[in-house]
Amino acid sequence: MNSLSRVVNMLLKEMPAFETLKQADVENRTRITILRRFAKKLDKPDCLVLADRLESCVKGHPCGSMACFRCSRQRRLRLTNKWLDFFQTHPDYVMVTLVFYDEMFPNRHLLGWDLNRLKQRLRKQLERIGFEGPIVGGFEMDYHRHTQKPDKSEWMPHFHLLILNDPVRLKQLRAYMLRGKNLYKRKGKKNRPMHNGRLFDVLRAFTYCFKGIWWEIPQFVNAAGKPKSRKKCRLTDNVLAKSLVKLDRLTDSQLTFTMNVQK
Ligand SMILES: [Zn+2]
Repeated sequence: MNSLSRVVNMLLKEMPAFETLKQADVENRTRITILRRFAKKLDKPDCLVLADRLESCVKGHPCGSMACFRCSRQRRLRLTNKWLDFFQTHPDYVMVTLVFYDEMFPNRHLLGWDLNRLKQRLRKQLERIGFEGPIVGGFEMDYHRHTQKPDKSEWMPHFHLLILNDPVRLKQLRAYMLRGKNLYKRKGKKNRPMHNGRLFDVLRAFTYCFKGIWWEIPQFVNAAGKPKSRKKCRLTDNVLAKSLVKLDRLTDSQLTFTMNVQK
């Protein structure tokens, strides 16, 4: 029994939807196929190297890539195992989602886009507000694909954080997230840059922070001229292949956000 079996057993019991190792392998298989198909079509050597890397990932020899669903599952388990006790004994925490609309960017900038800069920006702001206690969470992105105007499609960076429920400081954070630049970035649509909720289910909330899957949220303008979105779905193959190359270039610690935590 390894040290993660406690968390695995708990997840099996309380979150049957949490992916099994077998499901992670099936997802990896799909990713490998798409990477190879995309590489062939556009002559992208990075995709081929990554496909081989994912294929080599087996028990006892993890590839460690953040594009690998098997390793990403392992990361979720490891982080949950590390933090579960803390959050279960600190009911004074909330889960906060922070969306940076003002940092949205097109797919052609994906590989060059700098996550560290955004993390520093967030860290500085949280330090300025002066939150106490550990802050732990993860970074991810959704791809807002415009079905009618493809050139308007953009990645939307956001964080899910577990943070101390300090109403005064959360209000300051909300004011920062709601400043005009972020609130009115999208024409005709008011944004929701910050939402938070009580931690009723620590296990669910925590594993949610580290999903490690980037989704597409299709966008369109309805007959009345109003911008709308559809339910999230899988990324289209070419965007998925590129996002996997990006994820592969990011590290576990880059995708994790921690503050006020003793190393
Ligand atoms: Zn792997």
